[in-house]
Amino acid sequence: NPWNPLMGTASIDDDILTVLWTPEQLLQKVCELASQITYDFSSSPSSSPPVVVGVATGAFLFLADLVRNIRLPVAVDFVRAESYGSGTIAAGAPKISCEVKLDVAGKHVILVEDIVDTGNTVSCLISYLEGKGATSVSVCTLLDKPARRKVHFKLLGDGKFYSGFECPDSFVVGYGLDFNERYRNLPYIGVLKPEMYE
Ligand code: 5GP
Ligand code: MG
Ligand code: MG
Repeated sequence: NPWNPLMGTASIDDDILTVLWTPEQLLQKVCELASQITYDFSSSPSSSPPVVVGVATGAFLFLADLVRNIRLPVAVDFVRAESYGSGTIAAGAPKISCEVKLDVAGKHVILVEDIVDTGNTVSCLISYLEGKGATSVSVCTLLDKPARRKVHFKLLGDGKFYSGFECPDSFVVGYGLDFNERYRNLPYIGVLKPEMYE
């Protein structure tokens, strides 16, 4: 890559075993999701535009690309839920460590996640938003690992489930997803080399 200023030296890409989705494939899918959301939330003219709530930090790039392609004047906010201590093993029930700033009472909320794995995080956040008085909660996740689901969460009101790609049952990084807070800045999503966990 002639644009890589570190050409010839160690690169972040060297830590990746396989690329699952390229930046082009990610953007294509994000645009499809944004079109579907635009369509679904335009059809009812009486309801106010939705509040898009990203789950920090993992959803930050996905949310940025998603909202730029939603053709409605949505509000944007973040919530923080900690489910993993460090590494790749879930640390039990997540807890909300940073609350939403916006008032979501009476609003349609779209919760934006990088990945739904066991379903614990999304389930906890749906209850949280229900407690804040949201009219409906939809979930828009870039990746879904249905094989690993433990919690069969229920969306609030007439909320919908939007999902980009089904993810194989391996630990993935990039496009917001981390391993010990690293690799979030990869522009693609891939599988880390096993030796990077050690
Ligand atoms: P859940 O609560 O559904 O089990 O997990 C949700 C969270 O776990 C995600 O938001 C994400 O932060 C993390 N997670 C689950 N699977 C992966 C993965 O394959 N890679 C990374 N980087 N994080 C994951
Ligand atoms: Mg997440
Ligand atoms: Mg993480």
